[in-house]
Amino acid sequence: MVRRAEPGDAGLTRPVRTCVGCRQRATASELLRVIAVAEADGAGSGQVRIVADPRRRASGRGAHLHPTPACLALAERRRAFGRALRVAGVCDTGPLTEAIHGGTVR
Ligand SMILES: [Zn+2]
Repeated sequence: MVRRAEPGDAGLTRPVRTCVGCRQRATASELLRVIAVAEADGAGSGQVRIVADPRRRASGRGAHLHPTPACLALAERRRAFGRALRVAGVCDTGPLTEAIHGGTVR
């Protein structure tokens, strides 16, 4: 993962993140933060849920995504969540898909 300082951005301290879907850079406020939550079903399935963190307050590793169906589809196709969030197992993006398609994030 490359995280460079922005030259020519002095004085403008808005954080810039890369969308895991389209790989475009955008300010953090334009992107939705998502995190991985391990399923606690006791079955040890290793299933991990990808959920939105609209308040950006959850600790741990997060990934950023434009909250649009297009970028979500791109990220899923490229398995970008697993890579960005260091998830080795299966990522369940169901809750995130519902939130984005239902317009409950943003
Ligand atoms: Zn995007």
